[in-house]
This record gives sequence, structure tokens and C-alpha cells, in this order.
Amino acid sequence: MFILTIDMVKTTALHKLALTALQERKATLLSGLHLSPDLVRASYVRQYLTCGKKNCRCRRGFKHGPFFYLVQCLGTSRVRKFLLKTAEQRKQARAGIAAHLKLQRRLAELSEINTELLRRGVA
Ligand SMILES: [Zn+2]
Repeated sequence: MFILTIDMVKTTALHKLALTALQERKATLLSGLHLSPDLVRASYVRQYLTCGKKNCRCRRGFKHGPFFYLVQCLGTSRVRKFLLKTAEQRKQARAGIAAHLKLQRRLAELSEINTELLRRGVA
């Protein structure tokens, strides 16, 4: 049996695939679509910072940190950003962001397959 992985679809032009390969990939994608209850649309950002003290080591290049933030774009030039203080928060944020990205990639691929099926005039 020929199994089409996500990476193969990315590197293979969809218009070159056989109809059955497209339909099988669509079925696999649909059966693997799970909505994670903890997904988060955001970025995980690591930063090193300088403080306001005159003679602090951070003024000589040894910045404070790392600090980890969750950053969300809320539209035109609006951003929500907050410090992830605990290891548990950071772990939750990373998992939620990864779940969102995975779902996003799968939805994008499903859309690509459906577009190709539409182009071919196949329901
Ligand atoms: Zn400092």
C-alpha cells in the first residue's frame, strides 16, 4: 500500500498526483483531525533584557534572562504579550502552540487538496 505523508504532499505538486492518491490523503487527513482543547494561536518568544541599574552586568553584555513570553498578534499593530512565569506555563504554552500549528498545517493541506479536487471537477 502506498502511504502519502504530509511531507510528501508538500514536496509533490498536487496536480501531478493520481485522483486516488489525493482522495486517500484527504481521508487520512480527515481521520487525523483532532481539535486539541488546549490549542493556542500564539508565538513563544525568548528574550534577554537589560535593566535600569547603571553598573549592572547587563550593561556589559551579560543580559538578564532568558525570559519566556507568549505573544499574540491581535490584528493591525495590536499585540498581546505576557511573561510565562512558571515551567508549567511554559510547557502548556509550547504544547498549545504546537497543537495549533499542527491543526493549521493540516487545514491548509486539506484546503489544497480540496482546491485541486475542485480544479479537476471532482466532488
Ligand atoms: Zn541589569
